[in-house]
Order: sequence, then structure tokens, then C-alpha cells
Amino acid sequence: MPLAQPAYTYAVPEGMELEVGDAVSVQFGLRKYYVGVVWRLHDTPPMAGRVKPILRRIYDHPLLDEQQRALWEWMAAYYICSLGEVMRCALPSLIKPSADSDSLLLQEEYHPRTERYYTLAEPYCHEEALHKCFDQFERRAPRLYATLAEVVHMLHQHMSEEVARRLLTADAAPLQQLVKKGVLELREHTPDVEYGTPAFRLPYLTPHQQQALDRLRSEFAAGRTAALLHGITGSGKTEIYIHLIAEVLARGGDVLLLVPEIALTAQLIERMERIFGSRVTAYHSRLTNQRRSESYLRLKRSSGGEFVVGVRSSIFLPLGHLQLILVDEEHDASYKQAEPAPRYSARDVAVWLAQRVSGHALLGSATPSLESWLNATSQKYGFSTLTERYGEAEPPTIYLSDTRRAAQRGERHGHFNKLLIDKIEQALSRNEQVMLFQNRRGFAPYLECPECGWIARCPHCNVTLSYHKYRAQLVCHYCGHTEHSATRCPSCKVVDLQPMGFGTEKVEEQIAELFPEARVARLDRDQLTSEQALNRIVDDFAAHKTDILVGTQMITKGFDFEAVSLVGVLNADNLLLNPDFRASERAFQLLQQVAGRAGRRRAGGEVVIQTSDPTNPLLRQVLNDDYSAMAHEQLAERKSYFYPPYARLTMLTVRHRDVQVVRRAAGELAIRLRRRFGERVLGPIAPPVDRIRGEYLMQLMVKIEAGKSRLRANQLLLEEVNALKQHPDFKQVIVAINVDPQ
Ligand code: ADP
Ligand code: ZN
Ligand code: ZN
Repeated sequence: MPLAQPAYTYAVPEGMELEVGDAVSVQFGLRKYYVGVVWRLHDTPPMAGRVKPILRRIYDHPLLDEQQRALWEWMAAYYICSLGEVMRCALPSLIKPSADSDSLLLQEEYHPRTERYYTLAEPYCHEEALHKCFDQFERRAPRLYATLAEVVHMLHQHMSEEVARRLLTADAAPLQQLVKKGVLELREHTPDVEYGTPAFRLPYLTPHQQQALDRLRSEFAAGRTAALLHGITGSGKTEIYIHLIAEVLARGGDVLLLVPEIALTAQLIERMERIFGSRVTAYHSRLTNQRRSESYLRLKRSSGGEFVVGVRSSIFLPLGHLQLILVDEEHDASYKQAEPAPRYSARDVAVWLAQRVSGHALLGSATPSLESWLNATSQKYGFSTLTERYGEAEPPTIYLSDTRRAAQRGERHGHFNKLLIDKIEQALSRNEQVMLFQNRRGFAPYLECPECGWIARCPHCNVTLSYHKYRAQLVCHYCGHTEHSATRCPSCKVVDLQPMGFGTEKVEEQIAELFPEARVARLDRDQLTSEQALNRIVDDFAAHKTDILVGTQMITKGFDFEAVSLVGVLNADNLLLNPDFRASERAFQLLQQVAGRAGRRRAGGEVVIQTSDPTNPLLRQVLNDDYSAMAHEQLAERKSYFYPPYARLTMLTVRHRDVQVVRRAAGELAIRLRRRFGERVLGPIAPPVDRIRGEYLMQLMVKIEAGKSRLRANQLLLEEVNALKQHPDFKQVIVAINVDPQ
């Protein structure tokens, strides 16, 4: 089974012991060698041709166990893709069977992960000696003093090198010096799992939190597989997770905590590491292949008690004792893989998997997806709520600020209303921090000629090129095409092009003009060049080395900064004007999440949302912090137009370089599908961006009643797609199938 291929049959040579799930190397074609996974052992010879023998068995254990094979098969059937496509996504690349990976696999030996950690050197474990050391440093080496103070403050028993690197505001140099001076020691050990008594203290829950936890426990005890925890930001959802996690680990079960974007939830991992120490396995794409493969193999051999914190692909990890899956920020769109196949939703897979292992899935969010909300309120899922913020923190005060009125009154500077400017000024004067949100990166979404109306467009996609000023480039956000930005209009050659609209770069530039003394940083995908770059921006903001953070969606997720008292949304309009049927739901979620960043630990947080449409009902719901009003209204709308969660969608995107071929193929596919699904088929239509990377796109949608068999519908659908591709004109046409598109 090479990459993304259907299964092939090979012969088992005399004397070779094989099990289902084994990794083996085989010859494919004349001179290619691949590594594959044994899927089925059988005696049926294939219809034609000679069967090549399997060359070698690679590991002495099967690579996949029964649970994983069941998961892969279900995913291939539910998301309409091949097992090979599931495999490509499920295995870390070093152990991934693929072309020419044989040599790699041979080198690939299992190394138990060793962890390096700092600890106080023995002589300094005594308070007196330590004090003396502090006294010395205080006078002569303030940097060492500060670092040591921080280490001691956070040191329970030991602190792993990784945690130290992320937690300490100091860089590595003072740590190294402390080691050299013999104050700290850097030791190595191989973390292993202790069973039984948890070696950590659990947080005491408030009565309100305790109630929510008890409710979840009783829902699970009553036999429900999944439950929704709807808790406003800062209410202590994570504290509840911690209790549930500790319980399962103490029993020797495995726990999987799914998080949306790992780099941005570094804080969450640290929090878990501080409690669960080296039991925590972080799993995300920013780790090296080596590390991910090691984690995979280590987990495979584990006898339970594992705690993985990871992004969506960690759903594939071999956790043989899985009992609990938590999906944090379950509404987050990044749980759905858009491209390539399998186009799966890790949240939905989590619920399936929990059911399969007779475990539990807990979905947590301040702004649940309407799918989960309906499941919870219709009692298909358990349901528990947290309605108060923990401690002193109170929900922020939200202001809607009318951009049109401000412009009429001359109270607008650049893209800032006076209200927002005043609030920023006040926050800065109180030495508090500010976050500014704009959901477009770059300087401006497009450049336009004021004379002839010429607009810079991508040569490969049907979209405008975004202007990135500091790089002096025009960039396509769909295909990555970049070109040097000309200033003079290339069409009429008369005047200079004007940037239209605005992105994060322009916000950053204007804020620097308005508040020249403030320290401003920007966080968006353009800054994601490396993990260090990203961490530096986040760490600097956390340490209050910057005052204002400008960013896209990224700043809405999971950040918990104490000193942020003000959040500004530069323009809510483009969130509301999106043509997607989920636009309102998404806008609400986003604005609530952004607002949740203000005043996390204290009262008096403020949020200013700028809009030209302050009477918009959705914005009123945000203003009143009224999730259930939003859900009620949106669900009524979804029901009457027959959209999810009342209908189940499958989107088919037909692609080809020739626009005529695409149109004909899509038309033909529509006719075929209507024969099977009748009125449930919508389209074909051209999507809003109907050309990407030189290929033209047409879309079809199939809507199926919730409750009808999905797998049966999938079969029919796949038959029609395959039949279409038999047509000589459409052999090269690509049909991408997206089940439950987001
Ligand atoms: P959520 O996950 O719902 O956003 P958190 O669990 O992050 O909320 O809690 C918000 C803040 O309040 C965190 O800093 C957390 O440490 C603190 N907190 C919440 N509940 C408790 C508790 N019972 N004891 C101590 N601190 C708590
Ligand atoms: Zn492009
Ligand atoms: Zn022009």
C-alpha cells in the first residue's frame, strides 16, 4: 500500500511470520520499492497477473493495532478517501511507509526520550547557602540574580529544559552561567510513568466549578459518550479538565487533549506541564520529525497513563488505553482539515473514537459550535455550564463604535475612531496593555489605480493581490504568488496605485503614528516564519516588553495575558458580510473570543468594536454577551433553509485547467448525482474564488437529512464520481470531496 493508493495484494513468502498491521517492504512496479502496511491476510489470488512476494517485515511489532485500523477504515468510509490518504496523514513521516523510506526505517531505532532538566545543585538546596548566593548575586550580577530568583520561584522538584526555555523571561546565557558556577545542575533522565497516586496537587474548585464537574461525571456515569462544557472565558474550564485528566491518569488510562493551534496554546501546555510534569507529551507539526516519530513509537509501547496534548493529527496516535478525549475550543475551525484528504474533523472523530473505546469525549468552549450546542440541548450529549468568571475577573464592558458617524463628525483618524484612541490612551497611561484585532494581514487587501481603476490581481487565481508594504511586495493569499509591487499603474502609466482597505500592517503603522512612544508588535501569519520568532513576540508581550499587540485571528486563541485591559476590533463589518452560511456564527465566536482577552484577571476590561452597522442584531448579541440568543436565532435560520446541523453537507469541488472542461464535468456530475439524490443536490456554481493556482473550480453540494445513513450516501456519491472519471474527456478532472465542510 504505497502512499495514497488503494490496497494491493502481495504474497507472503514461505517461512515469513506476518501479522495484520505489520510494516513490510515490497516491490512496486519494475524498480520502485515501497514500505506498506499489511491490511488483510487472505487466500484469494487476484484476478490477473503474478503476485510479487513481500520482501521483508520491518518491525517485530505491528505498526498498527486493531483500534487504529478500525479508525482508519471508518475515516476512509466516512470522509470518502483511500486508506492510503488516511495513512499519509496519520503517521509521522519518519515511520511513514513511503517510497524509498526503507533505508530511513532501518536507521530508525527506538530511543526512549530523555529529558534534560535543571535542578539546584546539592550545596544550594539548603536555604542558608542559597541565601548567601542570592546576596552575592544581588550586588554583583543582577541578571543572574533575576534568573535564579525566577528558577527558584518556579522550581518544584526540577524543571525541564524545555519548560525553562519557554517559561523564563531570561535567555539561555544566565542559565548556562548558573550551571557553570555550580548553582544549578543540568541532569538527564528518562521520564517514565508512575501509576497510582498522582504526584501533584489538584486545584481546589469553587462550588460553582465543582457543580459543573459533578454534572459531567454524572452525565458520563449515566452512559453518555460525549458532553459539552459551555463555560465563558476565564470560568475555569481548564481547571475542570485537569480534575478529569488526573482521575484517568491515576487509573492508568490514557488522555488526549486536543487544542487548536499549538504554538498559540503554548501557555496551556506549560500549565499542564507544571501539573503533570513529564507525563505530558506535546504533539504538533512544529516538532521535528524525529521527535514526532519517537513520541509515536514510545506511545505505541506504553502500558498506559499517557497524557498527550496535541493538534488535530494527534487523534491518530497509538493510545492503547484511551479513556478520555478533551477537545478544547471545540468550535475552532482548525479541527477540520481542509486540504488534502482525509478532510476530517478531529472533533467529530474524537466523539467516534470515544464511543469505540467505550471512553468519554468532553467538548469545551465559551462559544460552542451550533452542531455541539444542538447535540447538548437536545440531550444527545451531556451538558454542563460555567457562567461566572473565576475570582475578581468580570466580563469586559463592550462598546460598539459607529465608524460612519465618527467620520461625519471628523472624529476618525486613519482607521481609528476617537473612542478607540481615547481608550488606548487611557490604558497606556495606566500602564496596561492593548490588543488590536484586524482579520486581514498585510498592509492592504488590494492596490487600485485611482485614474483607470486597474487592480493588481494574481495571475493564477481569481483574487486581488494583497499589498505587503514592509516587504514591498504584492502577495496572493491563496497560492503564495509574490511580485514586486510597482508604484506606477502598469495600465495607464499615469498615476501611483493606491492601497485600498487595510490589514494588520497598516494598523501597526497608524498606531505607531498615533502613539509614537508606545511599543507595538504585530502577530499574524506573516510573522510565523519560525517558532522562535513567534515565541519572541508572545513572550515579549507576556513580559510587558511591548504595550500594543496588533494581530489577526491568531491573537484571539487561548492567550491569557494579565495586563491586557483593552481590546479593539478595527472593523467588524467584513466579518458580517461574508457569504458563508456560518458567517454569523463565526463572527459571534470570533468577537466573543477577542473580547475574552480583555480583563482576564481583574475587573474593568473594555472592548471597542468598530462597525458601520451598530444596530446589527448579531452585534447586539455580542454586546449583551448572549450566546443562547445567537444560537436560537441562527438555529431557526438553519432549520428553515435546511443547513447543518439539521442537514449534512457534502461539498464536491471539480478542478481543471480548462474552464470548459470544468463546466461540462460539473454539469455532468450534477445530472448523475440528481439521479441518485434528486433535489438534495445544489449547483453547480462557481465559488467566490473560482480560479486557484491556474485551475478553474466549480462546486456542487449534496444535502442529506440528519439521521439518514451517511455511509450509504457516501457509497452512491463515490460511484457517481468514479463513473464521471471514466468519461474520456474527464480523466484529468479532479473531484475533491469534502464531507461536513466547515
Ligand atoms: P477557561 O479555561 O474557562 O478560560 P481557566 O481554567 O483558564 O478558564 O481559568 C481562568 C483563570 O482562573 C486561570 O488563570 C486559572 O488558573 C484561574 N482559576 C480558575 N479556577 C480556579 C480555581 N478553582 N483555583 C485557582 N485558580 C483558578
Ligand atoms: Zn494566486
Ligand atoms: Zn491606471
